[in-house]
Amino acid sequence: MKLIRKCAAFFLLVFCVAGLRAQPRPDTKTIKAVRFGKLWDAKGKLWTNAIVIVDGDRIRSVATDASAIPAGAEIIDLSKYTGLPGLIDAHTHMTMYTDETPGEPMLKQLTSNPPAVELFLARKGAMRTLEAGVTTVRDLGADQYLDIAMRDLINRGEMIGPRMFVCGYGLYITNTPYKPGINPPAGGIADGVPEVLKSVRQQIAAGADVIKMYASTGTDDDVTGFQTYNYEEIKAAVDAAHQFGKKIAIHSYGPDGAWDAVRAGTDSLEHATGMDDATIEAMAKRGAFYVPTIDHNRYYLDNWQKIGYANGFQEKSEAFIQRNLETARKAHKAGVKFAMGSDAIYTMFGENTRELGWFVRAGMTPEQALRTATTNGAELLGKEKELGAVAPGYFADLVAVEGDPLSDIDVAIYKVKWVMKGGAVVMDKTKGQVR
Ligand SMILES: [Zn+2]
Repeated sequence: MKLIRKCAAFFLLVFCVAGLRAQPRPDTKTIKAVRFGKLWDAKGKLWTNAIVIVDGDRIRSVATDASAIPAGAEIIDLSKYTGLPGLIDAHTHMTMYTDETPGEPMLKQLTSNPPAVELFLARKGAMRTLEAGVTTVRDLGADQYLDIAMRDLINRGEMIGPRMFVCGYGLYITNTPYKPGINPPAGGIADGVPEVLKSVRQQIAAGADVIKMYASTGTDDDVTGFQTYNYEEIKAAVDAAHQFGKKIAIHSYGPDGAWDAVRAGTDSLEHATGMDDATIEAMAKRGAFYVPTIDHNRYYLDNWQKIGYANGFQEKSEAFIQRNLETARKAHKAGVKFAMGSDAIYTMFGENTRELGWFVRAGMTPEQALRTATTNGAELLGKEKELGAVAPGYFADLVAVEGDPLSDIDVAIYKVKWVMKGGAVVMDKTKGQVR
């Protein structure tokens, strides 16, 4: 009996500790005052000795005078660091995290892991994403509505991860090879205008925040960019999404799908290489965002054996990266708006912001690159009044980096020391560092 009671007490303790660890809800009773040596607020101001007053999950004010700190506030001293708004990754696949179990190619795990295992593993990718300073993601493709479950679990505080805006199934043309037996159609498969309309409506009914459509071939080690959906189908998806107040992201590896996506009125264009001047000009004029995702092919090349790609694809992927970079250079020069998207999948989480390095290589200043992951990302989500900047009323999403990210973009990528999401500190590497 005594032993049973002891065991019960032990398990209760374990559960309590586990419970606490799983739910770092912000302490909404305490006002926090976060001090930064410098603060880039994404609103056009670089502050010196800034104090950000955080009340619950929001920013109450930004000041430089210590008299602005309310009595009893918890002071977080990050005066050795530069503050930035929490970053936004506009293209992820958060539920498609796979581990590096020996002998299990990650590509195979994606189809063999049961949904519950997939979602459980996704915690690691979510944590790594936060550690990179990314506090918000637009997730563009998942199975079984696991993205919706994950978004809701994070919002409830049951799972630690970035704030997610999700699409459910991405729309895809029929692409099932012959398999013996009964083959139920995969979610998101839609051909022709009526099926496209039905699928868009299905994603919205399931709880999607945004619609995703694959308008060309190309994924993983396949860098072909043949257009799949025709203009009428693309236009139907764009209009159906907009009718419900949702934005749409259209995937196209090649220029043909890109042109039809842009003239149909897409809100963002993912990947697209080889776009001609007319497409780029139309994007600039319409304000469509370009999310080139250059770095994901770099990740594939670095990790192809662990993923399980067949040898021999490398030359084509390397050429694709160069076309991707060149297209980005042209688009930036023409005044197209960019949003930073990593296309993180497998174990790429944590490398989300490496895309910023490519943007600087494409001709952006570090500040312009940072805008793609802050104000631009927020605008693409339709959340420009509460995400992507450090200002009163915005979510208290803050990142501290060591160094000057405005002169060296690598500081924002590799020197993240501390992260706050919605008023809760989710990562802190500042401890133990003696000045
Ligand atoms: Zn993707």
